[in-house]
Amino acid sequence: MNRLRVKCVKCGKEWEKDSEVSWGPEDISSSLCDPCFREVISPIIHRKQVNEGNLACFGKAGTHCDQVECKYLQWCLRMEESENATDLRKQGQHDKTACQS
Ligand SMILES: [Zn+2]
Repeated sequence: MNRLRVKCVKCGKEWEKDSEVSWGPEDISSSLCDPCFREVISPIIHRKQVNEGNLACFGKAGTHCDQVECKYLQWCLRMEESENATDLRKQGQHDKTACQS
């Protein structure tokens, strides 16, 4: 498995993720780290939660939440492990580095 460098566009934190594609040392993908992603996405999820008649509690529960019916619970508590969270993350941004050759 190859490694791709990822940089948070908000705070500049860098990390690596597994990738199917082979990347060079200069290749870096723009993304959001967990805290920044949560910060950016929270107002959007809060609006959805309120529209659906729920509490705007997304991101505030920590590691436990009693709103077991909430469809955002998984993202809220374990966002990095959720495939849906990854999809959601991709919607808001484009990978600027992947197509430079
Ligand atoms: Zn960040």
